[in-house]
Amino acid sequence: MNGAPPALMWFRRDLRLADNPALAAAAQGGRPIVCLFVLDAETEAMGAAARWRLGQGLAALDAQLQTSGQRLILRRGDALAVLRAIIAETGASALHWGRLYTPAEMARDRRVKAALRGEGMAVKSHAGTLLAEPWQVQTGAGGPYRVYTPFWRAIAARGVAPPLGAPRALPTPPIFPQSDSLAAWRLDAGVARGGAVLARHASVGEHAAADRLAEFLRDGLARYDEARDFPALDGTSGLSAHLAFGEIGVRQAWHAVLRALHEGAAGAEPFLRQLVWREFAAHLMYHFPDLDRRAWRPGWDAFPWRGDNDDAEAWRRGETGEPLVDAAMRELYATGHMHNRVRMVVASYLTKHLLTDWRVGLAWFADCLVDWDGASNAMGWQWVAGCGPDATPYFRIFNPATQAAKFDPDGKYRRWWLEPGQPGAEAFHAAAPRQWRTEAAAPRPRPVVGLAEGRARALTALAGFRRG
Ligand SMILES: Cc1cc2nc3c(=O)[nH]c(=O)nc-3n(C[C@H](O)[C@H](O)[C@H](O)COP(=O)(O)OP(=O)(O)OC[C@H]3O[C@@H](n4cnc5c(N)ncnc54)[C@H](O)[C@@H]3O)c2cc1C
Repeated sequence: MNGAPPALMWFRRDLRLADNPALAAAAQGGRPIVCLFVLDAETEAMGAAARWRLGQGLAALDAQLQTSGQRLILRRGDALAVLRAIIAETGASALHWGRLYTPAEMARDRRVKAALRGEGMAVKSHAGTLLAEPWQVQTGAGGPYRVYTPFWRAIAARGVAPPLGAPRALPTPPIFPQSDSLAAWRLDAGVARGGAVLARHASVGEHAAADRLAEFLRDGLARYDEARDFPALDGTSGLSAHLAFGEIGVRQAWHAVLRALHEGAAGAEPFLRQLVWREFAAHLMYHFPDLDRRAWRPGWDAFPWRGDNDDAEAWRRGETGEPLVDAAMRELYATGHMHNRVRMVVASYLTKHLLTDWRVGLAWFADCLVDWDGASNAMGWQWVAGCGPDATPYFRIFNPATQAAKFDPDGKYRRWWLEPGQPGAEAFHAAAPRQWRTEAAAPRPRPVVGLAEGRARALTALAGFRRG
């Protein structure tokens, strides 16, 4: 087979060898494989922290490939032009990739597929990013699910295909095509606080993802349901960035936890439900491609949101004077992560207490999160803002003080990020841009709005909007 024309494997957000159907298909038959990543406009559009995290993931994948004599070829430019050039250089006759579901990615992939098939290439896209393909899950009446709970039931009922192992061999081409240098791509350039700040909190690569899942199954799953809402506890899996970059397949996580469920592990079903929230977001994005731009609920784009404003800037800097909100915004800036419970609290505070457009918050999260996922981020923001798919009413407003009392009862999380001398607060002050002029010893800012006043203002605006 060594003289056979190579197969091209185009890695995207599936930076793993195991449970990677596209890679398995490329490896079938034992022909040489050229492993490729293309930094194109769609990929360059990622926020700063996610671009940095992508660079870490690419380095880890290349290191992993090199242990079997393979390597990851990096090229920058229009995907179709890059693929054509690699095909010409290597004589590849087949191309495989794992499907992605955002409108820009799908448009690119359609264009690439049509052009290269027209030029005689065998081009095949594969499942593997999700538990089910979006067009496979439909309501009884036909069409997409718009509510989470029936969607969860549908996924649970249809079952999930078992994960694949890693290919046994990844034969190399006689000559590797030339590759860009990852360092020269400067994927960390947009991170004002420097990639090293984020690196302290990052877990990267397929091996790390597998270790993390194993650790979570051993130590975390049993108490997941009771611990997962407490930001001061290490109560969740921490798998989101691994899942976002495909360093672990969602089917791998699903089946590992399903086994635990069958063995009676507490926490297993709540965890599977969270994986299905990720799935729900991806399916929604597929069926409603404007999810990150337009209100999902008809009419809600007319809501008189405030555009970007000084209060929103205070929110970004963790200076609203509302302790739980500020602690969470500091966590986001200093680590690239934010606990789910406080993601909901800060999103509610921005959109309800500060009446600021959810897209202002969505953009900041997209720039700061290392686990950024376009669909989950858009669904999360719309859900909290009240214009997304949610069974609870649009006028639900999280009270940060009540949330703090309930989910940070001893104040540990807030102290960690806010109290001078505490490691979190110190890390934040070291990371914050100079122009923010944050000072560790400065007194806490006065609230930009009183909680009761902000709530009343939001309810008036929401009621007025519904009446109008
Ligand atoms: C406003 C807002 C924005 C968000 N933006 C993102 C984002 O950009 N990327 C992202 O991965 N998650 C996002 N989430 C969802 C959630 O906050 C994170 O997935 C979670 O905090 C990740 O931590 P974990 O891996 O320890 O989660 P765990 O509790 O261990 O959950 C396991 C996995 O389930 C998925 N999951 C859990 N909760 C959700 C949820 N509410 N929506 C979608 N998937 C979920 C994630 O893939 C997660 O890794 C957002 C939530 C909100 C409210």
